Amino acid sequence: MLFTHDTEVSLRAAVDLVNAEEPPLTLTTVAELDAFYARHGYTGRRDRTTAELAEVRALAPRLRALLLATRDDAAELVNAMLARTGATPRLVRHGDQDWHVHAEGPDASLATRVVVETAMAMIDVVRADEHSRLAVCADADCEGLVLDLSRNRSRRYCSATCTNRNAQAALRARRAVTA
Ligand SMILES: [Zn+2]
Ligand SMILES: [Zn+2]
Repeated sequence: MLFTHDTEVSLRAAVDLVNAEEPPLTLTTVAELDAFYARHGYTGRRDRTTAELAEVRALAPRLRALLLATRDDAAELVNAMLARTGATPRLVRHGDQDWHVHAEGPDASLATRVVVETAMAMIDVVRADEHSRLAVCADADCEGLVLDLSRNRSRRYCSATCTNRNAQAALRARRAVTA
């Protein structure tokens, strides 16, 4: 494992949220936010309102900028985000999850928790100088983000769709050469 479990969970959630705003949009209903919440193991406050959905979706540009920032810029963005929310890190243990860090109480809005958790995760990325793990998808027409936590840094595409499209294009190109 490259980072601690909670850091990897938070990075995956942030990338998922940013990519949901790329076509095809996948975070447009409260039900889709329910699925996002469940998929990334969130706990704590849920309003299940369209206002909450809008607040979470509106984070995408800021999270995208943070995830793709250079190391020095990321450090400043993290500090600003944490200062603005008055985050207070503490160790918590709940459900089947062993000790990990929460920097917001369970009553903070979901959008606030997502911002703070992403900022906390980026602390680890900055300290480890692992920004190359975050990149824009290698597909020429896709702006999705790729989070590569693999040992051999083999991930280039944001999704199975982009991986398959490019594998097929490469295959066609090879066939054209040998034909
Ligand atoms: Zn937790
Ligand atoms: Zn892609």
